[in-house]
Amino acid sequence: MTVPDGSPFRGKSVMVVGGSRGIGAAIVTSFAAAGATVRFTYAGSRGAAEALAASTGSVAVQADAADRDRLLASVREAGELDVFVYNAGLLGGGDPLTLDPDAVDRLIDVNVRGAYHGSVEAARQMINGGRIIAIGSVHGDTMPFAGITAYGMSKSALQGLARGLARDFGPRGITVNVVQPGPTDTDMNPADGPLAQQMHDEMAIHRHGTAEEVASLVLYLASPPARGITGAMHTIDGGFGA
Ligand code: NDP
Repeated sequence: MTVPDGSPFRGKSVMVVGGSRGIGAAIVTSFAAAGATVRFTYAGSRGAAEALAASTGSVAVQADAADRDRLLASVREAGELDVFVYNAGLLGGGDPLTLDPDAVDRLIDVNVRGAYHGSVEAARQMINGGRIIAIGSVHGDTMPFAGITAYGMSKSALQGLARGLARDFGPRGITVNVVQPGPTDTDMNPADGPLAQQMHDEMAIHRHGTAEEVASLVLYLASPPARGITGAMHTIDGGFGA
């Protein structure tokens, strides 16, 4: 892999929680291509994680983001950090009257508790400034369908996390932001899935976004020109919520 001349990420230390597939894998790939030293976690997809690590020169670490001790250990093992991306997320849909409460609790553990504890621990590992970026969702702002209450609630929680930590860590030059994708072609939401046409009808740009498009926004927020952007939500949804 040839790193572009003048890349601001050359030699920077990046950690991505939930990087084995989809948007997380695109973020890992983009930072590695830009010359960063990248470490990422995964929960179950060992094969995908090992293949990604081998192809990008990154390090894959098995750590369930719902397991606080394991998550915190994985952040500490990363050493000094410049960029921390919390991408891990679960999408559990259905009627709240019949949804398995344990599944809802796991969604909250992965989408919210892990984001809070991981981000705070990452800030301890940031010496000179730093960037914390959580992957939220357009559903943190809008709820066009029934059946995704817990998911939307979890992504709205990330907005409070970013606003609060931006204040807490701003004096240290650390920025904290949320990237909010709309429909993006991954295993979670395939562009040819059963609800795809319904989603496209709601969008100004009638197609799924790509994981690479989301990764580009993450890299921008982590780059030096974005040092004044913090406590903010950045929606990349093809106009889904417009
Ligand atoms: P995928 O399901 O395709 O990939 C999810 C990634 O998160 C995998 O690498 C998975 O690793 C990891 N992950 C899941 N649970 C855990 C866990 N407990 N611990 C560690 N890692 C975990 O999802 P997407 O790429 O589509 O989504 C990425 C993020 O973007 C999520 O936060 C999602 O909510 C958000 N998003 C996605 C949208 C979309 O349309 N795709 C739209 C809006 C937001 P493993 O396979 O090893 O478990």
